[in-house]
Amino acid sequence: MPRPLYRTFDYAAPAQAPAPAIGARVRVPFGRAKIVGVVAGGREESSHALKTIEEVLDAKPLLTPDLVELAAWLAAYYHHPIGEVYAALLPAKARRGGEAVAKQETAWAATASDFPAELDRAPKQRQTFARLLQLGQVPDAEASALGIERRSLLALQKKGLAARSAVNTPVPQSSAKSVQPTSAQQAAITAIRSSLDTPATHLLDGVTGSGKTEVYMRVIAAALESGGQALVLVPEIALTPQTVARFKERFGAAATLHSGVSDAQRFNTWLHCANGTHQVVIGTRSAVLAPFANLRIIVVDEEHDGSLKQHDGLRYSARDVAVKRGQMLSIPVVLGSATPSLESLANVRRRRYRYSRLAQRAGGASMPVYRVLDIRGERLDRNFSSALHDAVARHLAAGGQVLVFINRRGFAPVLLCSQCAWRSQCPHCDARLVFHRSPRQLRCHHCGFRQAAPSRCPDCGGEELTPIGTGTQRAEEALAERHPDVPLYRIDRDTVRSVRQMETDLAAVNAGETAILVGTQMLAKGHHFPNVTLVAVLNADVGFLAADFRAPERTAQLIVQVAGRAGRAERPGEVWIQTFDPQNPNLVALMRSGYHGFAANELNLRSAASMPPYASLAIVRAESRRETAASQLLAQAAELLAAPGIELLGPAPAPIARRADHFHAQIMVLSSRRADLHRALARLEQAELKAAGVRWAIDVDPMDTY
Ligand code: ADP
Ligand code: ZN
Ligand code: ZN
Repeated sequence: MPRPLYRTFDYAAPAQAPAPAIGARVRVPFGRAKIVGVVAGGREESSHALKTIEEVLDAKPLLTPDLVELAAWLAAYYHHPIGEVYAALLPAKARRGGEAVAKQETAWAATASDFPAELDRAPKQRQTFARLLQLGQVPDAEASALGIERRSLLALQKKGLAARSAVNTPVPQSSAKSVQPTSAQQAAITAIRSSLDTPATHLLDGVTGSGKTEVYMRVIAAALESGGQALVLVPEIALTPQTVARFKERFGAAATLHSGVSDAQRFNTWLHCANGTHQVVIGTRSAVLAPFANLRIIVVDEEHDGSLKQHDGLRYSARDVAVKRGQMLSIPVVLGSATPSLESLANVRRRRYRYSRLAQRAGGASMPVYRVLDIRGERLDRNFSSALHDAVARHLAAGGQVLVFINRRGFAPVLLCSQCAWRSQCPHCDARLVFHRSPRQLRCHHCGFRQAAPSRCPDCGGEELTPIGTGTQRAEEALAERHPDVPLYRIDRDTVRSVRQMETDLAAVNAGETAILVGTQMLAKGHHFPNVTLVAVLNADVGFLAADFRAPERTAQLIVQVAGRAGRAERPGEVWIQTFDPQNPNLVALMRSGYHGFAANELNLRSAASMPPYASLAIVRAESRRETAASQLLAQAAELLAAPGIELLGPAPAPIARRADHFHAQIMVLSSRRADLHRALARLEQAELKAAGVRWAIDVDPMDTY
């Protein structure tokens, strides 16, 4: 039952019908309601009187035996209620009892190969036609997510330029069009191919632009030869339209499984994965929980990326679940990254993962040159040193593109009254309100609270309210003032709301001559900007100094990933890193010996401190409207957790204790042996801890420690 309870419930099978199969959905009376549950097991007799199943929704079980097995593993590993695990495996529509019938998917395709003159005066249709030519087949279900309007498609159909037909089962295309692999790529391909049909995990450690995607596509083609399916996990579909397009080009079709489509469409795609229609499926995190008729390989791109970890409910890591599924199905799993997680590097050292390295960029592009800019004692213009301003101007004058990375959105992190020192503060959180322009607002990035920005100080009525610090909007302003004629694109959560937007911007950037890109970490994910010659990292030190033990790892990954966007083609790139802390040991290690030198250092530190990946970590979190209630519950939890071999840190208030008017507290639970950790957490499950108004949860292998 989809309830937060660490148990299953017994029901009698309906008298007339055959007993439902394990993995089938059933409608049952539960309390005063009728709800949809999943059959997790069965037995011949029961010692007490049972309520009867009212309706069996699936004649053929919706969850296949391998997913039932996976559910049991997820519940045990993540210490999550089994009923909620089943609910997480099902698409929303299936949870509500929606009928499990896969509808034939239809797709659009162009029926001409040249641009007819009649489209010259219909730019929208022309653009749509161009997309159809580029993508080949566009399933109805994906058109809107790809930014293709139905209206244009229908107009093209009328003109006889596009047609809709049933989606064909895609045939793997020959790789004739593709490039000749480099010897490093070939070595990786051979290693992975030789492990088909075995539960091998490969770490593909390749610098940005080294041709990892080419390796993925070749090993997938090999896995599909015998008629199987392939799953590719990416951090965010909206940020990776280029990747999706490349797979479609190579394989004729690729289905996408993500949250950007309607529940009905998502369920339909899910059903087509289950019955084997889709051979290549590209998806975000939750796609790792999808059913497959004959899955033969899983690729996890950007395996270090934090978005692969679910942050609420069933807090699973899609990367780790992928590895587990690979073992269960006896198929290879490929984890790819230019900045592998310390977990994966440690697993290579322990010989649990195999290792392939692509140290050079494919196609002859050279690696960018780093330069650390010491800005101590400098007068900055909205976070830009004058040397950096000059460099930007120089690169633009030479016809290059400039990418400015600043990991804060909004205009300024806080608004300050220069008379009474009032600061914009969220009324619901222990956090500052960030000042945004257009619209002029104060916004909380933790709870979503927003209000119009005041023009006078709310405390003293003073008229001088000063934005302190710099976010993307302010950096944009500084650059626009100096370079009014250069197209400027800001890319952050506030500007990028859809795939369409992102694609339009990216197409403009990649087609254009000079341009400036300003943005947050969204710029660091997956995209190629071949014309970028200068990458500027404005506030690099901030990340290294954060309290979270993963902060140095995450910051190093961000810097290297952003830097990797530069100079991909024939143009060599430069990366400037502004810092108030040029002696920071993490930064020094990164500059002197690259990501791998940094990672080796950091692994030693983690080992010395007995932190992950050299210890197993879980966090027990609790939240409540009353400050004491959460800590009181955690005090009880601490007593249950305490045991030899278990180290407890806390209960303590979370680093941002008050969020959306709730107080958050936590206990970190560490152990050098995972079995000990599991035993301790199992005691929490059995105790059924409860307190009025307190929500609590277990987070195994947390990515964030707050
Ligand atoms: P990554 O995924 O590692 O960032 P990509 O697979 O996107 O790298 O490759 C970067 C660029 O290099 C792409 O334009 C790709 O087409 C090209 N490329 C990949 N492999 C080769 C190769 N063997 N020879 C020439 N170009 C290649
Ligand atoms: Zn004031
Ligand atoms: Zn808030």
